[in-house]
Amino acid sequence: MRRRDVLKVALAAAAVANYSAAAAFLSTYGPAPLDRPQPYQGQLRPASPPPDMAAFRIPTGLNHRTAAFAYRGGAFSDQRDSVSTAVLVTHPRGDLLIDTGLGRQIDSQFLLLPASLRVLTQYRKIGAAADQLDAAGYDRTALRGMLLTHAHWDHTSGVADFPGVPVLLPQSERDFIAAGGAFTQFISNTANVNYQVYDFEGGPYLGFPKSHDVYGDGSLVVVPAPGHTPGSVITFMTLPDTRRFALVGDLAWQREGITDLEERPWLARLQDDTDPRQVRDNLLRMSAVAQRFPEMILAPAHDARGVDQLPLLS
Ligand SMILES: [Zn+2]
Ligand SMILES: [Zn+2]
Repeated sequence: MRRRDVLKVALAAAAVANYSAAAAFLSTYGPAPLDRPQPYQGQLRPASPPPDMAAFRIPTGLNHRTAAFAYRGGAFSDQRDSVSTAVLVTHPRGDLLIDTGLGRQIDSQFLLLPASLRVLTQYRKIGAAADQLDAAGYDRTALRGMLLTHAHWDHTSGVADFPGVPVLLPQSERDFIAAGGAFTQFISNTANVNYQVYDFEGGPYLGFPKSHDVYGDGSLVVVPAPGHTPGSVITFMTLPDTRRFALVGDLAWQREGITDLEERPWLARLQDDTDPRQVRDNLLRMSAVAQRFPEMILAPAHDARGVDQLPLLS
């Protein structure tokens, strides 16, 4: 073979290899549902939310995404904004903010993130939770704490806006923050955070091995759901109108992760989950619960369809 032909063959081989690699990569965005588990066999646990308990959504911002980014089988043509919405729970035993969304300092905090994430993220600010609470005339002394679904940047940006208010989290998430990492830098760079570690003193709850009953009345029960981060949790909330929510954090980015048992695409699992196998186990647990109680409102932190069923704070 002449030298030029060798070059041609080499180039063709490289093109085929690249094509194969590209095809293999794209296939990781295709559907691959997990085997559906048996529905959870037990009953709902009783809850006695006081009549004056309430929950509100506080939309702080969003990222423009597509469904393909969120779960396998999602379409690249399906525009699906990834919302950052804090939830305010008001309760006679002290109010809680579940996650904080994008806070007042998001623009400067954002520069802390790795360039690889920044180029993929176009956030749009709606308003910091602190500003929205102030505008509504909310009395901040009623705030007992900020309960984190997990410590990633888009959930903790607003912690700095509530100096002194306790940040409630399990020890494993506290350790995750202390270990340092690109995605927890917002909270690790916040001065004088008042961390309060809670234990899972309660027994099994809806198929999860242990639980923490925040108010002692069953209205807000937290269970460990590690994998996305070591101390990720799911919060089961029961409101006085009997509606039950599963605030699943980033266990799934959109509810199809649970309803269709579609994991995050491979690259997202690699970059964003500390233990994808644990995420899978907890998706299966949560799916078993959702099948048994289809009236339960699934509220992944970034899926507007769940949190939008809570009223706006006014
Ligand atoms: Zn996250
Ligand atoms: Zn998130």
